[in-house]
Amino acid sequence: MSATLKLYNTLIREKSAFQPIDADNVRVYVCGPTVYDFAHIGNARPVIVFDVLFRLLRHVYGDTHVTYARNITDVDDKINARALRDFPHLALNDAIHAVTEKTAKQFHEDVAALGCLEPTVEPRATDNIEQMIAIIEKLIGNGHAYVAEGEVLFDTKSMSDYGQLSKRPLDEQQAGIRITVDAHKKNPGDFVLWKLSSDNEPGWESPWGRGRPGWHIECSAMSSRYLGEVFDIHGGGLDLIFPHHENEIAQSRCAHGTEVMANVWMHNGFVQVEGRKMSKSDGNFVTIHQLLSTDDFGGKQWPGDVLRLAMLMTHYREPIDFSIKRLEEAERLIAKWPAADVSNADPCPVVIDALSDDLNTVAAVQRLHALAQEANVDATLLPMFAASAALLGVLPKKTEVDEALAGAVDAVVAMRLEMLKAKNFAEADRIRDELSAKGIQLKDGKDAATGERVTTWEVKR
Ligand SMILES: [Zn+2]
Repeated sequence: MSATLKLYNTLIREKSAFQPIDADNVRVYVCGPTVYDFAHIGNARPVIVFDVLFRLLRHVYGDTHVTYARNITDVDDKINARALRDFPHLALNDAIHAVTEKTAKQFHEDVAALGCLEPTVEPRATDNIEQMIAIIEKLIGNGHAYVAEGEVLFDTKSMSDYGQLSKRPLDEQQAGIRITVDAHKKNPGDFVLWKLSSDNEPGWESPWGRGRPGWHIECSAMSSRYLGEVFDIHGGGLDLIFPHHENEIAQSRCAHGTEVMANVWMHNGFVQVEGRKMSKSDGNFVTIHQLLSTDDFGGKQWPGDVLRLAMLMTHYREPIDFSIKRLEEAERLIAKWPAADVSNADPCPVVIDALSDDLNTVAAVQRLHALAQEANVDATLLPMFAASAALLGVLPKKTEVDEALAGAVDAVVAMRLEMLKAKNFAEADRIRDELSAKGIQLKDGKDAATGERVTTWEVKR
């Protein structure tokens, strides 16, 4: 019997036992990328963290009983700007399509390399415009939104408990907002649901003219379409609490007349690089693609599982300092782990308990490392190690070796075995070291049945 799953809920600022609305269909929504540029290491964090949650929920409730929706935002002013800059010779719609397709493909390659499962559904904003318009019409109809100067705005004062997630009183939110710019707004905190588009901007026909949606409404539309008006868990980075998630809640609750949008709100902490806030001008802006396939960071390419482990060695709610030192630490750790195949064995209960305690991946990785050491000497523990590593998504894969090479290695290993039998240890050691330099690890032992000396080998990671 595994431990009760406890999750920290930003909405109530405490850790509590997780109770799904429907254990046959546990529903999770995580805000996905806006596709206009390479995803950076800060974007990688929520994708990895919520992938661990997805894996844990699948373990607890069954693989087919979890629906994980992560959207792609493919309409945004940053995308327009990039399309005009990079594809000036194309018609605007084609240019936008070129930017979003290229970036979404890159994102998928990056997160696959980080060992992330595909979400159950990955809706795109532009495929859900109709649903957004329907929600906006509802909000206007029930007095929560109004039209002003070519925009449809959400009336924050119309919602008595607006601000519950971020715990900011409305007055505080308004401080610092330049009133002159927002003269058409009833309240300074009111936000855009729909805005008219010029000919140079993408647009869709709507009751308010040809326009495009605001960012927040996208997630309200996609989550309710795929997960229902109220669902279990909504996740994202800490920076999304206000205004994005606060406004998602306002839209969804006021449109559907519900008490909550999602029961549990989970947020991962900030990411720094080498002790500083990531910024392009500081030269410490690192993309996933750079880490995986260039020498830009630390003078070498980093394998996806090392990046992932480095991320999981800090609790998801803590800030993380992403550094070369940290990557080297993760690399040293994982190098000591045995390669194994995914098995049907049960994961180690200690690992499950750690993850069940608000995704304590720090404790889970510690236990996994100890288990790896044990499995290195006692092969019967390999299946449990493999199942536990798979739960964290950090299972070292057996390297595929082609048959010709395997045959050649077998022959050399057999030759060395003869030398050992002839007590020619110096030559046997020399062969072992030579193979080791080529990345092949030998392991000497005795056949349990016959007591004869045997040597096995594997390709080092
Ligand atoms: Zn969102």
